[in-house]
Amino acid sequence: MGEQLCYTDAYVRSVAARVVAVDAGDGGAPVVVLDRTVFYPGGGGQPSDRGLLLRAADGRRWTVRSARKADGEIVHELEESTDGPPEVGDLLEVDLDWARRLALMRTHTALHALCGVVWRDYGALVTGGNMEPGSGRMDFEFERMTGDLVDAIEEAVNRELVAGREVRVNVLPRDEAFAIPDLIRTKINLLPPGIEEIRTIEIVGLDLQADGGTHVANTTEVGRIKVTGYESKGRINKRIRIALEDA
Ligand SMILES: [Zn+2]
Repeated sequence: MGEQLCYTDAYVRSVAARVVAVDAGDGGAPVVVLDRTVFYPGGGGQPSDRGLLLRAADGRRWTVRSARKADGEIVHELEESTDGPPEVGDLLEVDLDWARRLALMRTHTALHALCGVVWRDYGALVTGGNMEPGSGRMDFEFERMTGDLVDAIEEAVNRELVAGREVRVNVLPRDEAFAIPDLIRTKINLLPPGIEEIRTIEIVGLDLQADGGTHVANTTEVGRIKVTGYESKGRINKRIRIALEDA
């Protein structure tokens, strides 16, 4: 299995790697597996990374348009090019589109801060979410949400962000994770039974969730958010949209 650096250090933006498998893609996009990578394969509402593969030997470069998980391995999907993909054994530099990734990290952490505030202040559970670089949405079981509450939520989230809360990544044995009430509320029980270890993201003092995504290390890196909209998706289910203020 290739080394998957995005889960242990979200700030690594480039790495040297060997090609271990190539599929020319028969009319579709070629895909490449590496012995290590900095790409996030997507999941949990966070889109996969984009970036470049560079071959120092001859200066060739390939654009990675997306990444995904296949049988546990991170697979890089390349833009089609006329002279074909790299070859097994090639030494490549793997470079993220860092501006995009960092925007996704800030957005993802902002959404967790929103979750933490909505749970702490209103006891509303999150049911889903999605994001793009710089903006995102979360759905809550939040029957009594109103426009006034949304203003208060925006203020409260921004107070938490400027408070400089540390954001920690932990990996826990499954049993230990299941004993933590905060993790139960975020539907950890929906994780497939085969998973032995649970990765968690903790905004210290505010929010703790089982999560596979990439996050900034401190809430001050998010900056401020704006609530850009809210909708009713039914009597109970409500959606809140946010954007990074400088996005
Ligand atoms: Zn998340």
